[in-house]
Amino acid sequence: MGNIATVSNAAITTEQLAGWLRRFHDLVIKNQAELTELDSAIGDADHGINMARGMSAVMPKLDAMHAADANELLKTVAMTLLTSVGGASGPLYGTFLLRFGGATGSASELDLAALAAGLRAGLHGIVERGKAEPGDKTMLDALSPALDAMDGVIENGGELVSAVTAARDAARAGREATVPLVARKGRASYLGERSVGHMDPGAASMSLLFDALADELAG
Ligand code: ADP
Ligand code: MG
Repeated sequence: MGNIATVSNAAITTEQLAGWLRRFHDLVIKNQAELTELDSAIGDADHGINMARGMSAVMPKLDAMHAADANELLKTVAMTLLTSVGGASGPLYGTFLLRFGGATGSASELDLAALAAGLRAGLHGIVERGKAEPGDKTMLDALSPALDAMDGVIENGGELVSAVTAARDAARAGREATVPLVARKGRASYLGERSVGHMDPGAASMSLLFDALADELAG
C-alpha cells in the first residue's frame, strides 16, 4: 500500500540500472578466467578478456555519469562496449544495450513492461547484427529463454522481482542447455560437431547479466 517495498518492486530506477551494470562488471571480473576457459575450448580464448576489458571501460563512465534517463545511460555503456571490445561480443552486447536504451525512450524508471520491451528490442538487435537464432549455441540461448520466462510472468500478472528471478533461472538453464548443441554462428561454428560437449561462453556471460539484475533488485 504505497510503502517502500511496493515502490521499489514496481520499477527500476536509473540508479539501479547503473547498479545492475556495476554488478555485471563485478561478476565478469570474478568469472573472467572461466569465461576465457570456455572460449578456449570452442573459440579463441578471449571471451573473459573481452568482457572484462569492456566492462572495466564502462565503470569510470558510470561513476562520472549522472544520467537523466535510462536511454542516456544505456547508450553510453553501449558505445563504450562497441569501441573498447575487439571480439564479436563487443558489437553484439553494444547493439543489445543500444537498442534496449532506444526502446526505453526518455523514461527515468523502467517498470516490468518497459524492461521486458527494452530487453526484447535488444534481442532483436543481436539477431539483426549476428543473424543467429536460438539453438545456434550463442548468447541468444541464454537471452531468449530469459525473456520468454519474463513474458510468462507478465502474462500471469506477476511483478518485477518474480519476472527477473524467472528470467535469471531461465538464462542459467539456457546456458547449461548450450552444452550439447552444435555451434552454427561465430568462431565456434568452425568446429562444427566438435563444438558439442562445451558450454557457449557468450551464453555464460549473458546469464551473468541476469544474475546481476536479480542481485540488484534483491538489494
Ligand atoms: P570472438 O568470437 O570474436 O572471439 P568473443 O569470444 O568475445 O568474441 O565472444 C564469443 C561469443 O559471442 C560466443 O560464445 C557467442 O555467444 C557470441 N556470438 C558469436 N557470434 C554470434 C552471433 N552471430 N550471434 C550471436 N552471438 C554470437
Ligand atoms: Mg573469442
